[in-house]
Amino acid sequence: MPDTHWMKQRAEELTPQLVAWRRHLHMHPEPSMKEHNTAAFVVERLRDMGIDEIEEGIGETGVVAHVRGEGDRCVALRADMDALELTEQTGAEYASTVEGMMHACGHDAHTTCLLGAAAILSEMGDSLSGIVKLIFQPGEEGEAGALRMIEDGCLEDPAPEAIVAAHVQPDLQQGTVGLTRGFVTAQSDSIEIAILGESSHAARPHQGADAISLAAQAVTALQHFVARCTDPIHRKVVTLGTIRGGTRRNILADRVEISGTVRTYERETRDAIIDFLGNRLRTLVGELGGRMEVTISEGYPSLWNEDWVLDHAGDAARELLGDEGVVDMQYPSMGSEDFAFFQHVGEIPAAMLRLGTRDESSGFVHAVHTTHFDLNDEVVLPVGAAIYANTAVKLLQR
Ligand SMILES: [Zn+2]
Ligand SMILES: [Zn+2]
Repeated sequence: MPDTHWMKQRAEELTPQLVAWRRHLHMHPEPSMKEHNTAAFVVERLRDMGIDEIEEGIGETGVVAHVRGEGDRCVALRADMDALELTEQTGAEYASTVEGMMHACGHDAHTTCLLGAAAILSEMGDSLSGIVKLIFQPGEEGEAGALRMIEDGCLEDPAPEAIVAAHVQPDLQQGTVGLTRGFVTAQSDSIEIAILGESSHAARPHQGADAISLAAQAVTALQHFVARCTDPIHRKVVTLGTIRGGTRRNILADRVEISGTVRTYERETRDAIIDFLGNRLRTLVGELGGRMEVTISEGYPSLWNEDWVLDHAGDAARELLGDEGVVDMQYPSMGSEDFAFFQHVGEIPAAMLRLGTRDESSGFVHAVHTTHFDLNDEVVLPVGAAIYANTAVKLLQR
């Protein structure tokens, strides 16, 4: 019966292979929903391992595979495959070869870790007490690839009892795993606001409606509402990232456009902010002589780490890394993750782990979504592969 020691050893032996795979993916990043070569690479590697239960083209470019042991119970592991529109500036020898495209969110590492877990799990044979569903998803960066895969049936035949994902975390020391109890990523909604006034001469504002002054009131009122009218215990942030309006210094602007993002955890706080934008703020602008149009695009839901799933992942991590290798993370992230769809739409108990990548001495300190983000793959990949594999084993032994 393969034990944790064996798993750790296999992950270490696989390291040169994992590094080569990750560097190949890193050099050939693909945008969301166009992960054709990445998906083909994943399928080839899985076939090389002798895994033959593979479905391609799930949610367009997603891949689902099953590693079968003894019994019918099933748990799922998920990795994402897409890259970002950024020009890499790491100077690494394995830097992106695609102009303006970069694996800046570590999805190359996630995909590789899941391939490593597939290799380990497939060697376990019947000592694996169930089925592990491997989900390689497209389009995490804004295209809701998880939702597309769910709608395409990735959680059926068999349905998993739980699902786990890992995400790189540059604030966390490499070689460690971070666990967050409760909320772990936020709901993210996009807002587009148009404040409509009426032009007039700058010297006669009473003959028009000043969209810039109205916009200033609207911005202040919105931030007031968020800070003073929602429960301070509920974490939230509203950021207005763009504002544009006016044509000339001595003409009243007749239109100002504002865009931003609303990040929340609790649905009631999210709904209160959205209601304020759509109703009370619109009324306020109307009372001051203008009009307001608002478009809200609901983004990814917030993600709640299910206690028992997180506990099994924690046990799996402690077995491999010891107590010192497992960090209880005090705070969640205000970032969002479409992994949350597996919980909200798929209704599968879920947990997301953080995979530490920080190494000050080697300069691996840069945040994800920056042109300098990188990680020490020789350290991070075997940890990620073993954690994925052992978490699946622990969940199946439950
Ligand atoms: Zn990202
Ligand atoms: Zn990501």
